[in-house]
Formats: sequence, structure tokens, C-alpha cells
Amino acid sequence: MHDETRVSGQQDRSAGLTARLANVLAGGMGSGGRYEHRDLVIAKGKGAHVEDANGKRYIDYMLAFGPLILGHAPRVLSEAVAQSLETGIMFGAACESELLLAEEVVSSFPCVDKVRFTNSGTEAVQSALRLARAYTGRDKILKFEGHFHGWADNIFISVKPVAHMGLASHPKAVLMTPGQPKSVIDDIVIATWNDFPGIEQIMSRHGSEIAAIILEPCPTNNGFLEVAPGFLEKLRALASAYGSVLIFDEVVSGFRMALGGGQELYATVPDLCTFGKAFAGGLPIAGFGGRDDIMSLLVDNAVSHLGTYNSGALSCAGALAVLRELKRDDQAVLKHIHRLGKELIGGFNQVFQETGAPLCAAGPGAVVSVYGSPTVPKTYRDVLSHNKELLARIHRALLHRGVWSFARGTFMISAAHDEDDIQETIQMMKRVLTEDI
Ligand code: PLP
Repeated sequence: MHDETRVSGQQDRSAGLTARLANVLAGGMGSGGRYEHRDLVIAKGKGAHVEDANGKRYIDYMLAFGPLILGHAPRVLSEAVAQSLETGIMFGAACESELLLAEEVVSSFPCVDKVRFTNSGTEAVQSALRLARAYTGRDKILKFEGHFHGWADNIFISVKPVAHMGLASHPKAVLMTPGQPKSVIDDIVIATWNDFPGIEQIMSRHGSEIAAIILEPCPTNNGFLEVAPGFLEKLRALASAYGSVLIFDEVVSGFRMALGGGQELYATVPDLCTFGKAFAGGLPIAGFGGRDDIMSLLVDNAVSHLGTYNSGALSCAGALAVLRELKRDDQAVLKHIHRLGKELIGGFNQVFQETGAPLCAAGPGAVVSVYGSPTVPKTYRDVLSHNKELLARIHRALLHRGVWSFARGTFMISAAHDEDDIQETIQMMKRVLTEDI
């Protein structure tokens, strides 16, 4: 495979910067998620494209792990941020952009009567879990194997387990990093996605102890795992029957799969939801919201939710500009994104068929998953048996050819992508499979 990324000699700025980063940043990296593109140092981004420190251009389907729904440096966001820089970026008190943003969120998500903002999806999930525990007076949380809800100790469990997982019918809780206290496992019960009889059994044993059932309604963190018809409705009824709070983690799905996320897409209303990423087009703001009687526990700090940077005026103004752009012209942006995503899926599948590659592509459009198997998976265990090595090789080869996706085969689409990007990407996939792999 020829290397289109590197420029030789003193022109290789990326390599020089990577070496200097390794001297001062732990592991040379700002977040553990970035090791999959460890040598990449980005100089700038505009629209659907980024340029690295060597001046090489990439079509960007990583979108900073999803938030850049309008692409890089969109004008509406830049203008809102510029205005906020003039008038004050945070006050530690309520401001008008916070009010307008809250009104937009309440009108977007079916389950949200009241909302609060945080700085990350991880914090939003922590706040929702605390509320569910306070509301029910119970401690245990039911989560699904393969679903990700942030990196906090108490929920960073069984996200990508590879050993000690137990049987698929009785999955075990597996800690994801050294440093997590073993005791957090005591409050977690693990279930298998789309296995409703299994969850009924769990609830018949533990239901009276379960504060919350939390899930990604459109799971993407191990490739897109489609929900079985009727599964969410049945979970809704089961959570109500046992008095457990149903939490949809819409950090990826909210404002991307649909404005109102999975709850809109699958017409199932949870008690609480969390959101982030696409919500603010790349600014560090996320949030949680839901039923008034649960959210009301936050009144006068009966239940605490704190944070110096919560609802900063700059982040609120930026997120407001993004949401207004997403809602404009009968949601033209989301329609464009879904259309291009479907085109990418169709093109990839045709390439896989023509080349005989043991792969397939699927997904809701706004997120496209390439799976290391000719069949679409239903559970995390299915994904485990896929050819991850092949996906990793394709990821590296595409990167060399100027197409930047997630190593697990995920492609996120933004408003800034166009037909040319999609067609170029399909052609690159064909070249990678016929010339590089
Ligand atoms: N929930 C889901 C579904 C996610 O995919 C993520 C991050 O990828 C999080 C929560 C955590 O969000 P953040 O990285 O903003 O803390």
C-alpha cells in the first residue's frame, strides 16, 4: 500500500508534532478514544473536510466523535459564538440564551417537561442516574451489554467486554478499566439487547431493587445495533410495572437520528433522557431532562446537580444556533444527512458485493455502520464474532487515502457533506478493497 499521508523529510510536520506531543501529554493523547488515529495532527477544518499538519486533506466522517452535525466551522455557529464573546461567555446565573435553548429542547423531545444542562454526556448520564435513584429510593441500574453511557466508574461497565462475560443468556458485569472500584459492580445488572424474555427474568428477580433501566435507543458504540420491533415498547411497560425509571441515553441519537432522537423515531416515551454531541455542533454542552415529577426533585437542591460551567452563555448561544439550523425549513438538514447516509450504505453494499468482501453496511442514515460480517448483528455478542482485524485494516487504508472514519466502521454524516464526498468515499472503499487489502 502506498502512503499518501506522509510527506518526507522536514516537510513531515505531523510526525514532528506527534513526537513533541508524546513528550508532554500522557500517552501523547488528549483522550483515550483517540488512539485509533494516533498519528493524526489536525491543523484546520472547514465543512466536511479537515487538513492535517502536513496539508493533507481528509473527508471527515468522525466529526469529532459525532458532535459536528453542521460540519467544521459552520457560519451560524461562528456568528453566535462571536456575539457571545462580545457580550460575556458565562455568568454563573440564568441568562436569556439558556431560557431559549431550554424551550427548544422541551419542544424537541417527547419525554422532556423540564431540562438541565451539563458540560458532557458523561455528566448528563450521572445526573439522570442520581435522579432515578433519588426518585425510587433504590440503588441498582440495569444496563445493556455493549451500550456506552460515558466513562464514570459506576456505569463504564460491560461496554466492550472480551472476557469473563458469562453466557449471553446471563451476561456478567465486567469493569472496563483498572482503577474502577470493584464495588460498583454490586449496583449494576447487565442485560442482552433485544432479549426481552431475558430482561423479564431479570426484572422478576431484581425488579424491586432496580432504580433505572438505561439504554441507547439507537446503539452505535459497537456499530449500529438496530432495535427489534416492539422491544422498546415492551421495556417501557416493564419499567412502569416495576416502578423503575426508564432512561434513554440520546447523547448520539438526539438531534441526529431524529430531532427527538430514538424516542421520536420509535414512538416510545422514556421517563428521562440525556443528550449531547450533535445538540451543540461541537461546543461542550449536553443535558438531561424528562418528566416534571422526577425533574422537580432538583428544585431547591432537594437532589443536587451542580457545576461551575453548566449553562454557560456562550455554549447556550451556540447550541441554540445549531438547533434553530436543524429545525429550519422543515428539518432540511436532517433530511439531507439521512439521504446521503442511505446513498453511502447502498454504494458500500454494492462495492462489497462486487468485490466479494465479507462485509455489509447498514444504519439509520445519519450514522452508517460497516460490519465485519455479511450479516447485520442484533447484539454485542454478534459483533464480537465479526472480523475486527479486517475493519481495522480498512480503516487505516481509508485514512491513507484521505477518508477518516471510526475504526469500528462507523461513518457519521454532517450537513456539510455532499454528493461528491459520498461518491468519492464509495470509490475509495472500492480501491481499498481491490488494491490495498
Ligand atoms: N452516552 C453515549 C451514548 C455516548 O456515545 C457518549 C460518548 O460517546 C456518552 C454518553 C458520553 O458523552 P461525553 O463523551 O460527552 O462525556
